[in-house]
Amino acid sequence: MMDSDFLLGEVAKEVRTCEKCDLCKSRKNAVPGEGSGRSGVMLVGEAPGKREDQSGRPFVGLAGKRLEGMLKLAGLSRDDVFITNIVKCRPPRNRRPRREEAETCHQYLRREIEALNPSLVVLLGVTALKQFFPSSEISTARGVVVESGGRRYLPTYHPASMIYNRSLERAVSRDFRELKKLLGR
Ligand code: URA
Ligand code: SF4
Repeated sequence: MMDSDFLLGEVAKEVRTCEKCDLCKSRKNAVPGEGSGRSGVMLVGEAPGKREDQSGRPFVGLAGKRLEGMLKLAGLSRDDVFITNIVKCRPPRNRRPRREEAETCHQYLRREIEALNPSLVVLLGVTALKQFFPSSEISTARGVVVESGGRRYLPTYHPASMIYNRSLERAVSRDFRELKKLLGR
């Protein structure tokens, strides 16, 4: 635990000063992952948005509020989980991260995963899904636990995508209730 906190702190420190891809040029603050390993759950989003860029913290805007609501359905609070993103710096005008940006940034995500050693990684949306399973489609992959490299992954839709879409919201709700069962809660 001490070890994991130390390693995560090292990653966060490097992320905050990283200039390995062009996204560093337009960011205000890089946004390393944050949270705890106490539930064994890690959530991976896409990229920081405006509020995240301003504060240096993941999922603090509207998508974050939605995510907290979903976590509640799994019997979890924000403090129980580790929350991070595919890229740690906000893309201009919130465009999707480019393939090469995601690849360059992946070393940090990989180290966050190694340090935390989560029992389950929730992939939030298509960008996170494609980074781990390039040939999967979100509409068929969501809600189905996949095992890969000795780790379990649960893909679902991104919390921002469900803000104006009730049917996606229902699907994400189902997936987080499933998460509750998977955790034996
Ligand atoms: N959307 C994301 O994917 N990540 C954040 O941190 C905030 C919004
Ligand atoms: Fe570095 Fe990732 Fe930010 Fe690019 S997005 S500058 S690789 S921390």
